[in-house]
Amino acid sequence: MKKLFQGIIDFRQRVYPTCRDKFTELAKGQHPDALFIACSDSRVAPNWFASSDPGDLFVIRNVGNLISPCGTKGLTDGDESELAAVEFAVLNLKVADVIICGHSDCGAMHALIDGASLTEAPHLKSWLRHGKDSLQKLKDHGPLNASEKPVNQLSQLNVLQQMEHMKSYPFIHEKIAKGELKLHGWWFDIAKAAIYSYQADQNKFILIE
Ligand SMILES: [Zn+2]
Repeated sequence: MKKLFQGIIDFRQRVYPTCRDKFTELAKGQHPDALFIACSDSRVAPNWFASSDPGDLFVIRNVGNLISPCGTKGLTDGDESELAAVEFAVLNLKVADVIICGHSDCGAMHALIDGASLTEAPHLKSWLRHGKDSLQKLKDHGPLNASEKPVNQLSQLNVLQQMEHMKSYPFIHEKIAKGELKLHGWWFDIAKAAIYSYQADQNKFILIE
């Protein structure tokens, strides 16, 4: 915690005086460009690796960057909190882009691929069910990039699977069909600090540079 408190003090003393106007403007309301859905992993810091400022990204983070698919009556069968945030970003803030971002060496993907029993973490075990289709995809169709290790092969396919889950919601599907919303799949390689974007026409992740 010491590092955290020191960081807060440093921000107040050194950073804030240089961006006082920015925060005065931010206090009037938010108009983010995109909804960014990423893993809770502490090494994945979207505002940092995308050099974005406060106010630019509306962010949802959870274990494995998973989206619970649409169940009966157009409602989630998994996590109301997550879909509440998606609805708010898309319907109220009217973001034009939704980015789902996976990453290398993801603990959630490790747990899925290793078949971890997780008997002492029943909520985590239950939550990871939303990644089971990704695992099946890897078994049925193989990886997008065979040179990646299995956990990363799964992580990349998981991004595509979660994009499918997102599209299973009628309000998302309709927005995409009207051209009001675009869905993007990204993948972050931690060791290289490199971001890759999925290109459907090539069926692979291409380095953003
Ligand atoms: Zn992760």
